[in-house]
Amino acid sequence: MAIVVQKYGGSSVADADKIRNVARRIAEKYTKGEKVVAVVSAMGDTTDNLLDLASKINANPEPREMDLLLSTGEIVSSTLLAMALHASGFKAIALSGPQAGISTDASFSRARITGIQPRRIIKELDRGNIVIVAGFQGMTKDKDITTLGRGGSDTTAVALAVSLKANICEIYTDVEGVYTADPRIVPEANKLSEIGYEEMLEMATSGAKVMHHRAVELGQVFNMPILVASSYVEKPGTIIHGGDNMEARNKVRGIAHDMDVAKITIAGVPDRPGIAAAIFLPMAREGISVDTIVQNASANNITDLTFTVSRGDLKKAMEIVKPVAHEIGAKECLSNSAMGKVSIIGIGMQNTPGYAAKMFQTLSEQGINIELITTSEIRITCIISEDKIKDAVKALHKVFELDKG
Ligand code: ASP
Ligand code: MG
Repeated sequence: MAIVVQKYGGSSVADADKIRNVARRIAEKYTKGEKVVAVVSAMGDTTDNLLDLASKINANPEPREMDLLLSTGEIVSSTLLAMALHASGFKAIALSGPQAGISTDASFSRARITGIQPRRIIKELDRGNIVIVAGFQGMTKDKDITTLGRGGSDTTAVALAVSLKANICEIYTDVEGVYTADPRIVPEANKLSEIGYEEMLEMATSGAKVMHHRAVELGQVFNMPILVASSYVEKPGTIIHGGDNMEARNKVRGIAHDMDVAKITIAGVPDRPGIAAAIFLPMAREGISVDTIVQNASANNITDLTFTVSRGDLKKAMEIVKPVAHEIGAKECLSNSAMGKVSIIGIGMQNTPGYAAKMFQTLSEQGINIELITTSEIRITCIISEDKIKDAVKALHKVFELDKG
């Protein structure tokens, strides 16, 4: 019998009523004769609250203790969900990540799954249990508890679906699927019935919050179809899959945006080998991920280097970059934390000219100044001022006719 892997996000299990609602939905599947494995996130803002609490106690908590602390959020929601199922007379068992057989490397707070031994899950399914797995966590060789990084429960779910050879991984959340743009900004945005892994990956890394990009990547590597749908209403969601979609040709499929962008410019950088490495190596060592990087062609062997990081990383990045900039003889180091990025995404843009020009023209008609531009084969991204993001998303959605269903 096929196994169904479902995942319920933090907002879907935020209180007792919502947990009962999720239990009812899982029970429905189970009653139809399916074997259900459900992965849960921590209730509501639990993870944020635990992070906050820790920071009040120690400004620099040990990563090991931090992960052990954060893993409790998912333990709470998974056990309560199992209890809700018991209360309605269903057989269910809650398993922590390690109990579910999830092994990871030892990079605390951003651990990677190295393998899954699903023996226990299969045994419990064979006993007739609904299996509830605490998302976002695993265990190292040395038996330390790790977490997979923010939003990591999606990754847990897709990884389990792969290892249990499920037909599909169902992600239930507080939105009804993947939209052509954020419906809170563009009310005319349309829900996509399907989208390819590549496009979804670009959407997720460009700021669309529906799904974690690592989970999409995993789905792509193992060709596991992923359904994103609402945990509240019975409506078809969006299927993320690998098949070719003829209709997506020659079309922008979605507009993604991200308001969490800070920009750093190192001006007057001497143009010689090793400079970029000198700047970016120490940041990589500190785990700061750099997004867009732009370097000008140099004039008189002097160039400017601009890059973006998330706002939370700006302070640390500046602390690292300033001394390096001084050392290499750069003129100055500037930053701006009020930036945002807007992207147009679509497989159909590949090898088709005109999309970039249309995007730039639309932004200019809105009086929006483009600070940086980056592209991939299926994405064009502009870094602009944060307060212009909403106007940009609305205008681009219209110009690329995404409101037309
Ligand atoms: N609870 C974790 C977080 O808030 C993991 C997740 O929700 O997927 O990031
Ligand atoms: Mg969460």
